[in-house]
Amino acid sequence: MRSITLRLGAAFLLLAVLCVGLMGYLTNLSVDRDFREYVERLVALYTQQAADDLGRLYVRDEGWEDVQGEVSDLAKLRVRRLVVADSSGVIVGDSGGLWLGESAEELGLHGGTPIMVSDQEMGAVYSLLPPGAGAGGDLEIPGFLGTDAAGEDFFADVADSVRVAVLVVTAAALVTGAVLVVQIARPIQSLIKGARHVAAGDLSYRTAVKTKSELGDLAESFNVMASSLERAEQSRRRLNADIAHELRTPVTIIEGTVDGILDGVFDADREHLASIKEQTALLTRLTHDLRDLSLAESGQLTLDLAPSDITDLLRRKLSQVEVRAREKDISLELNAPDGLPHVAIDSMRIEQVVANLVDNAIRHTSAGGTVRVSAEEAPGGAGGPDQQHSVVLSVSDTGKGIAAEHLPHIFDRFYRVDASRSKDEGGAGLGLAIVKQIVVAHGGRAWAESEPGTGSTFFVSLPVAVTPTA
Ligand code: ADP
Repeated sequence: MRSITLRLGAAFLLLAVLCVGLMGYLTNLSVDRDFREYVERLVALYTQQAADDLGRLYVRDEGWEDVQGEVSDLAKLRVRRLVVADSSGVIVGDSGGLWLGESAEELGLHGGTPIMVSDQEMGAVYSLLPPGAGAGGDLEIPGFLGTDAAGEDFFADVADSVRVAVLVVTAAALVTGAVLVVQIARPIQSLIKGARHVAAGDLSYRTAVKTKSELGDLAESFNVMASSLERAEQSRRRLNADIAHELRTPVTIIEGTVDGILDGVFDADREHLASIKEQTALLTRLTHDLRDLSLAESGQLTLDLAPSDITDLLRRKLSQVEVRAREKDISLELNAPDGLPHVAIDSMRIEQVVANLVDNAIRHTSAGGTVRVSAEEAPGGAGGPDQQHSVVLSVSDTGKGIAAEHLPHIFDRFYRVDASRSKDEGGAGLGLAIVKQIVVAHGGRAWAESEPGTGSTFFVSLPVAVTPTA
């Protein structure tokens, strides 16, 4: 039985039948027991009244001589057979008229109700079924009620009521069960349908389950999952298209140049070979950048962390770009004090971060401008943008700046402010995405501020290395 509807339905049915059957059985049992107790209490009460009446008779007649004449009336009143024994156990009165003069003990009569006169036991009275009314079994009910039919009617009525109750409860349990089964099974079936759509590649499918139960939460999570899968799929497609686009330009240039040389259109001279080399270098950089990005985005970038002096690192890095800055007539300034707290970094990766930022700054600054690289300590603490004790690097330039609408996106991969970039306007839009991923992998933050027409400043915060206290 694979269907959850069938399983739940069968479970409900079984439960309903078990509960209702048990209820019927227990009701019968308790009616039987309570009724028996009630009859016994009534018989005991009536017998006690008969014993009191007989005591008064004993006093009036000064003995048991005339009791047989009275005992039938007493018995008739209570629809019982009364047997009276004197203090020595000899039967002196019997409304059935059968045992006069016999010994109660020999007849097997026990548990008689004592007849007390002035605190003395003058005999005992036994309450029995009237002769010929014995069909009530040990309960003595029909006898007590007067006829067999009355007792049977009583139990038949009780049984009927129990039967009706059992039927009504079974029907109610089945209807409730059916409603519940439908309420549980329908959302599950809808979720199964959704999972099949998603598995078949239809990531736009959403379930329409709207219940406030855990199944509703599950359906909502399913929809959230499908949305994020859809977003991931769209971004994967965009990424593939971007990569293909970026690879196509250098490959086309290389292919065209080589074809030209082979067809004798170009000479295989230094100029054309240099162009091919430049495009292959671009391809190499692109593949490295893509590998670093995908490693960082999947959290697999291995960092060789060591406490380092950031001022040293900046000094080293700037000396490498000094010539290029001078060539562009840009003045390069370093503003980083000695003795800054050490930061826990992978120096090679942070050098790459600084290189990307300084390279961008030089590229976007015109001759006569300034690129300033700074580092300062940020104590952190509540309220500030950086909660942790860190060192903040900044690279500012006097270039054309970045318009406010582009600023939130410049750290996205393949995002370029000027999509129709010229050759020296830079790369594929991966530089800042790599900066961000490396900095985040270090537990830091990267952000930018810019004033179009005045310049831009890029910031990177790096957490200060925790030195073990002695
Ligand atoms: P790319 O490698 O193409 O330069 P980046 O990720 O480094 O890509 O930069 C993304 C975009 O941000 C670039 O298209 C560029 O226009 C802009 N940008 C980056 N740095 C600066 C800067 N210092 N001044 C002005 N614009 C910048």
